[in-house]
Amino acid sequence: MLNIERYIDEGVDRHRNQTRPFVFTHNGRRLRVASLQTPDGGRIRIWHELSDDNNHAPDPAVWNEFPIDLLDYIADGAMVLDQNDKIIAVNSEFRALYDIAPGEPIIGLTLVDIVKRAWAKAGSLSRVVDASVLDNIRFAGAPFEVELPGGRWRRVIARRTASGIGYFTHSDISVLKRALADLAAMAATDGLTGLPNRRRFDAGLEEAWQRCRREGAAISLLLIDIDHFKSVNDRFGHVVGDNCLRRTATIVHEAVRQSIDLAARFGGEEFAVLLPDATAEGAVAVGRRIRASMAREPWSEIHPYLTSVTASIGICAARNAADLTVADFMRHTDEALYRAKNSGRDRLELHVA
Ligand code: GH3
Ligand code: MG
Ligand code: MG
Repeated sequence: MLNIERYIDEGVDRHRNQTRPFVFTHNGRRLRVASLQTPDGGRIRIWHELSDDNNHAPDPAVWNEFPIDLLDYIADGAMVLDQNDKIIAVNSEFRALYDIAPGEPIIGLTLVDIVKRAWAKAGSLSRVVDASVLDNIRFAGAPFEVELPGGRWRRVIARRTASGIGYFTHSDISVLKRALADLAAMAATDGLTGLPNRRRFDAGLEEAWQRCRREGAAISLLLIDIDHFKSVNDRFGHVVGDNCLRRTATIVHEAVRQSIDLAARFGGEEFAVLLPDATAEGAVAVGRRIRASMAREPWSEIHPYLTSVTASIGICAARNAADLTVADFMRHTDEALYRAKNSGRDRLELHVA
């Protein structure tokens, strides 16, 4: 149960990303599933029950005659499992992929043993992958990923014969995983300030909102808009303007609880701070902290004539997220900011919902 969310995510992924047929056993019946995505986002899935007289199945009895050396001519890591998921044979590429020395005995072990061993050799505890690997092994034909220490990843895909012998290939997808992770981080980050960007903020708001709603918790939002920023650009140029934004981003970032709150660049010269579980007092304290830091900031380091930069802040503090829609929450915050601007700027305005 500890890993239930992860199993569900992996299961959904497996079904979403799978285009090749895969075979698994369900209540003693062997099923082949083929699925095809339709252009309109739907999916056609065909389930086919396999009978045991499948003629491409070599009998385990003839296993001894199989030319095992063949495996060493396969470029990917290759692994053959018996009906109980114990290793019958591997090739040398497999050993290389899982940090197993050439002479090290591994026949009779399981893939879980191998993965655990790789983590142990690196001196780190294996992530709780056992059950996840075991579960994935049941779906022959559906690729799955195994994490090894040092940010290394293996992609595993299997075919099973009717009698249960499993033929697995393993490939190194570390570079791909790293590139995907970099891409995901880049897509969530604002290039100028390094803060989470609007896209990331929207996702974080949605997530926090759902949670606070479920728990009937408080939630607060600050919108911070730099005052007369256009004239900073006009007087000193965009390079100075950019540096101003970077410093403001640092101030906003440092004003919040790092693992709980979400400080983001909302747009041009606007920043948003989401404070889950924060009361109006807590939200106002964050707003005051930001304003105090801006007042203290040595702006003239950026340009000798840039003596001060101020911001207006709109705050909405919701006592109970369940009483409000997220659109109203945003609207109240925006209106509070508008009030702060209209009543002279360089101040904060609070709306309690
Ligand atoms: P107000 O006090 O009413 O908020 O006035 P303002 O000048 O701050 O607001 P306005 O919306 O008129 O102008 C925002 C300015 O922010 C205009 C735009 O050039 C500048 N800006 C937006 N993004 C960037 C950026 O990435 N770098 C720089 N240097 N300027 C930016
Ligand atoms: Mg603005
Ligand atoms: Mg502004």
